[in-house]
Amino acid sequence: HTPSAYKYPLLIKHLLHAPMTQSADQEIVYRDLSRYTYRDLRERIGRLASGLTSKGVRRGDVVGVLDWDSHRYLECYFAIPMLGATLQTVNIRLSPEQVLFTLNHARPKLLLVNVEFLPLIEQLQGQLESVEGIILMSDDGVFPNRPVKTVGQYEEMLANSSPDFTFEDFDENTRATMFYTTGTTGAPKGVYFSHRQLVLHTLIDLVGFGSPAQQGRFHREDVYMPITPMFHVHGWGLPYAATAAGVKQVYPGRYQPELLLNLIKTEGVTFSHCVPTILQMLLSAPNGGDVDLSGLKMVIGGAALTKALAKAAMQRGIDIFAGYGMSESGPILTIAQLREHELTGNLDEEVELRTKTGTPVPLVDFRIVDAEMKDVAHDGRTPGEIVVRAPWLTMGYLNNPASSEKLWEGGYLHTGDIGTMTAHGVVQITDRIKDVIKTGGEWISSIELEDILLQMPGLSEAAIIGVADAKWGERPLAILVARRAGSIDDASVQKHVKTYADKGVISRFAIPDRIMFVEALDKTSVGKIDKKVLRTKYGDG
Ligand code: ADP
Repeated sequence: HTPSAYKYPLLIKHLLHAPMTQSADQEIVYRDLSRYTYRDLRERIGRLASGLTSKGVRRGDVVGVLDWDSHRYLECYFAIPMLGATLQTVNIRLSPEQVLFTLNHARPKLLLVNVEFLPLIEQLQGQLESVEGIILMSDDGVFPNRPVKTVGQYEEMLANSSPDFTFEDFDENTRATMFYTTGTTGAPKGVYFSHRQLVLHTLIDLVGFGSPAQQGRFHREDVYMPITPMFHVHGWGLPYAATAAGVKQVYPGRYQPELLLNLIKTEGVTFSHCVPTILQMLLSAPNGGDVDLSGLKMVIGGAALTKALAKAAMQRGIDIFAGYGMSESGPILTIAQLREHELTGNLDEEVELRTKTGTPVPLVDFRIVDAEMKDVAHDGRTPGEIVVRAPWLTMGYLNNPASSEKLWEGGYLHTGDIGTMTAHGVVQITDRIKDVIKTGGEWISSIELEDILLQMPGLSEAAIIGVADAKWGERPLAILVARRAGSIDDASVQKHVKTYADKGVISRFAIPDRIMFVEALDKTSVGKIDKKVLRTKYGDG
């Protein structure tokens, strides 16, 4: 045992040491259906690894999972990478063609499939190029009789497999997970992460949401529940972090507002995260108004947190704040936690700070640059593209050298987001590069304009897209959803934006002259407003 023989690769299995010694009896809950302890989790991870091995899974193989957020998914988060295979979290909300594309591109050997997705698999099975076996998962032990060839059932496999699986050491750079972008900017692209990257990301989730901050702090006494899907960007890495922290965890299955609110109440959930549209849905759920949400810490990311939404959440007692990241970054990059002296209790002041994009978390080399990759001034005003380096970013897109090269041009990962930074490192995203509206020589931030619009009490949803204009080059088109149909007209919308323009908050060019009301805005597979679809439907294509 010379010092030179000392090696401790950063492997996902090591995240289990602390919880197993300290939280073995802590609970992990699945919906209103089942609950078990960390001891059970550890045992089932062993059984799953043994079972998958007996089905022929070997180091380097890909195993795909199609499930809602569940204890089973958590088991897969660990067991599959821990045996040296790669977990593909399949985005089951993509179209069948896109799911097929991601499966044939990632080439999983085995699929673990919730019976709810049997119709999808039935439709695709003749075209699946790499899949050698399908294992079915069912909440209630019922397996519908469908013409899909399977090689086993999840619970049965676990019951018949040994919990004693020896998880060996291997290179920490081994690929642990992969998944696909949601394709809002083109065909879905595969991103992938190693053990080392996920371990470091987990630690930063714990440090970032943990010790430095008081507000929004994630700690041992918390009860964790994700409301961003486990199939997309590792549920923001928080299932790994929550497990490493040994806290009580709740997995809510498919997102149904009533069940989510009920779980928050009955299980005492204190820490969660979601995209703005899902929070909106929770806050406006019928009969949801009497659920006490005070003390619930909520990180909102995936899209800008608007002031109106933050305010509504705070009025319900939610300790809300924004975070920023993307598929390619695994995701965490910034968090908008407030400092002690910023917790004034003044709603408007706090909303202002809680809706910022946040400050970069430790280890992230976060830059805002111009077209020559020179840093712009950190004056809170000068926009540039956000480019980053961090230990946990995807090294590229799977089998896509051209896009990978572009992603990493100049040695930094290009986020495609435009933002500003203050002298104190507070970042504000103003737009995605492709969403920015250039009108009459000025840049209008669609995010800012949407934020202003949604401060009109009568509006429930707003999206701004640019449309071509002969005179101005481009003009903003406001696509709006009124809380009560017909309750708002164009003139009142313009008047509302004008008051902000008069105060100098936004340019006069931002006052929309093209306004349309629709019943609902189209959403992506993870519930975000889908501007690509809106452009095709209502814009220039
Ligand atoms: P997709 O690219 O399909 O939307 P991602 O989940 O990778 O899927 O989305 C990442 C993008 O979401 C970021 O590049 C950014 O544009 C946007 N985003 C994420 N968090 C925030 C935030 N806090 N504020 C504004 N935009 C955000």
